[in-house]
Formats: sequence, C-alpha cells, structure tokens
Amino acid sequence: MTIAEWHHAAIADRVVEALKKNGFEAIYFPRRDEAVQFILDAVIPGMSVGCGGSATIKELGIPDKAREKGAKILDHGQAGLTPQEKQEVTRKQLVCDLFLSSTNAVTLDGCLVNVDGNGNRVAALSFGPKKVIVAAGINKICSDVDSAFERIRNCASPMNNKRLRLSNPCAAAGVCLDCNAKSRICRIYSVLKKRPLSADFTVVLIGENLGY
Ligand code: SF4
Repeated sequence: MTIAEWHHAAIADRVVEALKKNGFEAIYFPRRDEAVQFILDAVIPGMSVGCGGSATIKELGIPDKAREKGAKILDHGQAGLTPQEKQEVTRKQLVCDLFLSSTNAVTLDGCLVNVDGNGNRVAALSFGPKKVIVAAGINKICSDVDSAFERIRNCASPMNNKRLRLSNPCAAAGVCLDCNAKSRICRIYSVLKKRPLSADFTVVLIGENLGY
C-alpha cells in the first residue's frame, strides 16, 4: 500500500463512520472496479435507473453496464432529446427504482453538499426514488460544510460550466464570480446533514479522483 492509498483509506474510513452516524449506509472501495461491481449488484433487470447527470457515474461506465443488465436507464443527458423530453426524463427520475448520482462534496462529519441548477438532482437525493446510491471519489471529501461550498464555488461549478459549454463568468475565470447570468447553474443549495427520513440511501466512497 502506498502512503497515498493509506491516507485515502484513513480519511475515507472516518467519513464512512460519520455517514453511518448520520443514518446513511456507507462503504469505501479503494478502486473503482470494486465500487462499480457493488453498485451493479443493486441493479435488477427491468428496474428503472435514474442517472442524475453525474460525471462520476458516467466515468464509472455505470449507465451502459446497467443497461446491459436489463435496466431501463433514465438519463436526461443522452443525445438527441428535445427540451421537453429532457424534462420528462427528469420527472421520471424522481420516482425511479434506483437513482444514481455523485455529490459535489462530502464532509468529514458525514454531510452531503450539493448545488443544483434545475433542482432535479437535489430533489431526487431528498425524496422519491425507492433507492439512492451516491458514488463519490476521494477528491470530493472536504473538512466541513463551509469548505464544501468553497470547493463547489472554486472547483466543481467552474468545471461543470466548462463541461456543459456554458459561457458563465466562471468558465473563463476558473472561480465563481457569483454571477447573475440567465444560464447560472448555481441556484439550489442543499446540505443533507442526515439521511432523509424515508430514504434507502447508500454512499459509496472510492479511493480515486472522479468527476468534479
Ligand atoms: S454562480 Fe455563476 S459564476 Fe458562480 S459558479 Fe455558478 S455559474 Fe459560475
């Protein structure tokens, strides 16, 4: 084990314990392959699987693998959808069998912190799907909620703006300028301090950098 691997595991173990104290199921995998297998084990042929537009979930190749297992994938990011069709898919995600997402940040004391534009992702993380699995790379761990929002302002949101080819000021500056643009993607700020009361909710931490 390298020193970096030891450090990832030590930090992740602490976060897993904190998440469990907050009512979430939580597990750490040093490598993505094991995490992907764990997530795919929750996929049953015929079930509806919502994907919340997460770069991490795509990087892990889960939508394609879940489709191969016979799941019906609800991905509003798939090519060729009209705006109305996208809206329809995001609505269906809210009542899907399994919702897969990452999180913008997870804190050492076990909170999940997210900023959303439409609100479909934070809505589904809060209520609706029969089961939720959040996958997060080691790069998403922050000390506390304040540093989580700082991470979102100066890392996650600018990179997501770039990924989505938006012309908001952060896509040039690389940091948040608290814009008032019509295309601003930072509109709903969410902190899950505890597992939502009725949710079946698992957080999968992975000892690699994934997503933004
Ligand atoms: S508020 Fe505007 S400038 Fe700041 S990260 Fe969001 S989109 Fe970018």
